[in-house]
Amino acid sequence: MSWEIVIGLEVHTQLTTKTKLFSGTSTLYGQPPNTQAGIFDIALPGVLPLLNDAVIDKAIRLAIATNANVERRTIFERKHYFYPDLPKGYQTSQLDAPIVYDGHLMIETENGPKKIRINRAHLEEDAGSSRHGEVPGMTGIDLNRAGTPLLEIVTEPDISSAEEAISYLRQLHQIVTWLDISDGNMQEGSFRCDANVSVRRPGGPLGTRTELKNINSFRFIEQAINYEVARQIKILESGGSIVQETRLYDPDKNETRSMRAKEEANDYRYFHDPDLLPIIISEERIEAVKANFPLMPEALKSVLMDKYDLSDYDAGIIVQSRAMSNYFLALLAFDVDAKSAANWLLGDVSAYLNEQDITIDALPVTAEQLAGLLTRIADKTISNSIAKKVFTLMIERQATADAIIEAEGLKQVTDTGAIEAWVDEVIAKNPKQVEQFKSGQTKILGFFVGQVMKLSQGKADPAAINALISEKLS
Ligand code: ADP
Ligand code: MG
Repeated sequence: MSWEIVIGLEVHTQLTTKTKLFSGTSTLYGQPPNTQAGIFDIALPGVLPLLNDAVIDKAIRLAIATNANVERRTIFERKHYFYPDLPKGYQTSQLDAPIVYDGHLMIETENGPKKIRINRAHLEEDAGSSRHGEVPGMTGIDLNRAGTPLLEIVTEPDISSAEEAISYLRQLHQIVTWLDISDGNMQEGSFRCDANVSVRRPGGPLGTRTELKNINSFRFIEQAINYEVARQIKILESGGSIVQETRLYDPDKNETRSMRAKEEANDYRYFHDPDLLPIIISEERIEAVKANFPLMPEALKSVLMDKYDLSDYDAGIIVQSRAMSNYFLALLAFDVDAKSAANWLLGDVSAYLNEQDITIDALPVTAEQLAGLLTRIADKTISNSIAKKVFTLMIERQATADAIIEAEGLKQVTDTGAIEAWVDEVIAKNPKQVEQFKSGQTKILGFFVGQVMKLSQGKADPAAINALISEKLS
């Protein structure tokens, strides 16, 4: 008999706010330990929380994008547990009335579209972090992350395979980055996933689940789920039973290991935080967020295909990130041809970004500068191959295309006198090929064009070379 896989995902997204959820401390990542930890974050007695209002609009944005409802009167609870990197002894979170509830996303599967229900998304504080091994035999506590705002997005157990999980996660990741809810940086922990996994007989009751914690890459999530499913099936088929617990995925060994027994909600002694008033979210506020909603990736993709005639593939890559599509739209504002703009973005620009392992925000060439380069290709000042060289120099020297074309003398030569001289030289040097051409092997024309190009260091206008050679040889 076969097994059915049941998965529910909890994603913690760190919100892109300048300051923490309940204090004015900066959320800047990568600072020296405990330099981003104010009197509230380290839990000095008597210091009161003050809600960072910016998180509310981000949560509303998520609700709109995931077809969910916004709780009009949302409240905060204290969730108690002891851990060295949690100085308050509780995490401020939401249980009874989370800010976002009852949403869904549609994913593509082999059997067509499938609805993945989102039970809720709630606001909570991140904990600090424990740093092991930097001083031998000791663990250090860094409270820089303590109090960073998180939105935890929780699905119903509607997911039936590792592939479906990844498909849902990629879509969610695109949404939160597109809407500037989170920067989505998985290495830095801005988008972390817990996967709850169980197996059952088709149609039977839900099996006991295990929770795989804090996995920070799509590939590891897929591997961890597949490993865990196989482990559970093996236990059940040999007559054993699954222990409800939290397990840790080890990417080096590609296995999951038991971490701790899973607490029940009542072990956390949740209660309403008496220091925080309920938040009332007005209809006007939700309407205002709706009114400023950007075009979502799929809609923008259709526009790129219909209005600018881009292929499905090209448009799909451009809308993979908001930054990339903004850059593309910025290029178009300088009146460049959409197709050549797309070719450049997907070609030389992407190659450079991959090579440097950076995103387009960090590209040293602005949209205006790249548009300047594209304009010089379009008006035939330079050829496409010279343009590649100019692009590299633009990055190196932080200069405009025109400045580089001028300084390097890269203007395309259209002067027929100069080109004729190169053509004559090539014909004189290659009598054998001239014979071949004259005996009907016209394909050899390409050879002559190539030689002239070489002599001109890429600067001769290919159309002019072609015309001159054909004329001289026939
Ligand atoms: P907790 O608060 O203990 O983490 P929740 O009820 O909030 O528990 O559920 C957490 C996640 O576990 C949700 O995404 C839910 O869909 C998923 N889940 C619940 N039961 C199962 C199960 N039997 N198998 C797989 N996932 C499950
Ligand atoms: Mg949970």
